[in-house]
Amino acid sequence: MMLMAVQTAELREALERWFGFPTFRPSQEAIVRDVLDGRDVFALLPTGGGKSLCYQLPAVLTPGLTVVISPLIALMKDQVDALDTAGIGATALNSSLEWPELRRRLDRLERGEYKLLYVAPERLTLPGFADDLERWNVARFVVDEAHCISEWGHDFRPEYRRIAPLRERFPDVAFCAFTATATARVRDDVVAQLGLRRPAVHVASFDRANLAYRVLHSPRTVDALVKWLRARPDDEAGIVYAGSRANTEKLAGALCAAGIPALAYHAGLDSATRGKRQEAFIRDDVRVMCATIAFGMGIDKSNVRFVVHWDVPRSLEGYYQETGRAGRDGLPAECAWFFAYGDIARVERFVEEKPEGERAAARDQLERVKRYAYSNACRRRELLAYFGEIYPHERCENCDNCLQPRASFDATTDAQKLLSCIYRVRESHGYGVGIAHVIDVLIGAKTEKIDRWYHDRLSTYGIGKDRDRHAWRHLADELLRLGLIAQDAARHNVVSLTDAGRRALVERTPVVIREAVAPVTGRRGRTAAAPRVGDDEAYDRDLFAVLRALRREIAGERDVPPYVVFSDAVLRAMARDVPRSPAQLRAISGVGEKKLADFGARFLAAIAQSVD
Ligand code: ADP
Ligand code: ZN
Repeated sequence: MMLMAVQTAELREALERWFGFPTFRPSQEAIVRDVLDGRDVFALLPTGGGKSLCYQLPAVLTPGLTVVISPLIALMKDQVDALDTAGIGATALNSSLEWPELRRRLDRLERGEYKLLYVAPERLTLPGFADDLERWNVARFVVDEAHCISEWGHDFRPEYRRIAPLRERFPDVAFCAFTATATARVRDDVVAQLGLRRPAVHVASFDRANLAYRVLHSPRTVDALVKWLRARPDDEAGIVYAGSRANTEKLAGALCAAGIPALAYHAGLDSATRGKRQEAFIRDDVRVMCATIAFGMGIDKSNVRFVVHWDVPRSLEGYYQETGRAGRDGLPAECAWFFAYGDIARVERFVEEKPEGERAAARDQLERVKRYAYSNACRRRELLAYFGEIYPHERCENCDNCLQPRASFDATTDAQKLLSCIYRVRESHGYGVGIAHVIDVLIGAKTEKIDRWYHDRLSTYGIGKDRDRHAWRHLADELLRLGLIAQDAARHNVVSLTDAGRRALVERTPVVIREAVAPVTGRRGRTAAAPRVGDDEAYDRDLFAVLRALRREIAGERDVPPYVVFSDAVLRAMARDVPRSPAQLRAISGVGEKKLADFGARFLAAIAQSVD
């Protein structure tokens, strides 16, 4: 089906009119053109890259129905709400609909009143559905979250296998697959499983320039997390990922106790509770979601301002997907991993307990994660390298290693003290001890254990008086990182010298370590030196709060998520440019024709009232 060659000006005009955006994001225009040309398309864009627009714009520009296959009802609902609000006819069919509503939608489909139809893959094989599609004049099939078709992906959904047979039934209709999951294996598998025909392949850069990546090495305590959250504006919402159900509950409880509205989310909750909590987060009713990775794909919320990792991510790929949920609206967002050395030992042990067949792969994953955490180099460079992409700059100026490079210095003498102290303590004490006790001995503390075990008689007792506990703790972390000492998670984190550590002690090998990072401060504490993408802080925060409240009110009236009305980016632009007329409001990116007509007057009135 060859369609008209659409002019650039025409495309831009439609983009402006329906979505209110002045320009395409990288790759969007090329993809839109291939979709309009009726080609099969395979497009890989990072989360937040703007995939939906790539098929929604063609849908409004061409006759017929665009059928979007999507894995989750919640996702479909958000998309339909967003399209509705933008004045684009869209609907979804799913098993949760009551009969009268279903009938109404089917009638409108018969009359060709929608441009887009969202369905779950299960529906494709319902008796009669393909016949319905024949009548509805399908312009193209879009497979969203296309990696779900592959067993190699992290979200395999067997129902996705029902898509391929459609190809035989509709041989002339184009198939377009979209995903944010990157590995080459999954990519090839998707193309093969869907039977894409000479698809136009688009692989966008995976760089998310507006995301700041940090690995926080200061002690990981709930207190530190509370401080970090308090340092951020309290209208900013985000996710804290934890590795276990218990941790999500513990953290949510602690945050609530500290006055930060938080909820826990994990697979152990019944689906009604999960649904309610997800809704609360999406609607800006709760600030922090403490979640396991069960909280993920269904989250389309564009104003997630931070993603915190509390436990060790399973893989770098997983880390990238999870952090990718921050900052979809393109505004600056933080990805902070509260790193704890003890955790690595725990996960290592867990890996060693895996069945033989899975061990090698798991070890490899953990090794990559560990290298990332310990690295001194630009985080963005490393993350992109993981996906086979070479970041074109040496430094990104938006990660901890670029913003706060840490100096290295020679710590051979202190390392000798610490290593020999571990050695002495272990010699005298058959069961082994944790690092805290070793440090007590070094600084010459008087503790019950030191008394009981006569450790004040060791030659290393008090030889480290000149430094405080934190300095020794940091040195121990560095020696762990350098592999000179080891912690045994199976035995209460007992420390010991590794072979390399023993050699270093005997041969007095020079030991160079890095400075400790400054204590956690969150964003306000960052250095101002580096330019950051979209980091325009010059907006009226009070006005922003007023607009946000209005957005929430309108969202409530329409029963849609607030970011569907206007994104944070749009509200910030309003609070910066302070538009006083419909034309000025319309000039803001993200304010399209329909939204101006529906909401313009109320936003202008609110602006006038709060500025005058
Ligand atoms: P993805 O599905 O790839 O994660 P979305 O389609 O949800 O991304 O888009 C992410 C955000 O980017 C949305 O808030 C959307 O409105 C915005 N967006 C998409 N295209 C553009 C554009 N050309 N200009 C400005 N914002 C855009
Ligand atoms: Zn960097």
